[in-house]
Amino acid sequence: MKLLILDRDGVINQDSDAYIKSLDEWIPIPGSIEAIAQLSKAGWTVAVATNQSGIARGYYSLATLDAMHARLRELVAAQGGEVGMIVYCPHGPDEGCACRKPKPGMLHTIASHYAVDLAGVWFVGDSKGDLEAARTVDAQPVLVKTGKGEQTLSKGVPEATLIFDDLASIASALIHQQAG
Ligand SMILES: [Mg+2]
Ligand SMILES: [Zn+2]
Repeated sequence: MKLLILDRDGVINQDSDAYIKSLDEWIPIPGSIEAIAQLSKAGWTVAVATNQSGIARGYYSLATLDAMHARLRELVAAQGGEVGMIVYCPHGPDEGCACRKPKPGMLHTIASHYAVDLAGVWFVGDSKGDLEAARTVDAQPVLVKTGKGEQTLSKGVPEATLIFDDLASIASALIHQQAG
């Protein structure tokens, strides 16, 4: 199967240093919904792995997080696509969990759900922790310049990292690569 894994904040929707705390604050980055729908229609399974320590910090509830993910699914479905497994880490940075990126726990969860090997699977993120999580499991680190991406890039990224402007550019590259 063709599996693509995405970080959420800064990749699919606009990020905020003040956290995305409500459905109103969950605003798709232009072209991202269409990109996921196009990838899905081209045969890609698009999964999501997102750190959501705002849950542990008490900034928003699991019900609110679920509502954001339901909105994401609805918007992609309206474009004829489908979102795959969405995994989130609700823990804080001091809890020592196995899922919070840069740890690769969520990537393992997705891989076992779909029974695939993570080697070479693209994991798209805008933060250093995303790139590190990918490298830990021999997945392909992919950086987008949206969200914190420009800032991450300016601090230096692993040598093997692929860099794209945004999710729309990734969709177009993967779909054309497949066609050609
Ligand atoms: Mg992010
Ligand atoms: Zn966790």
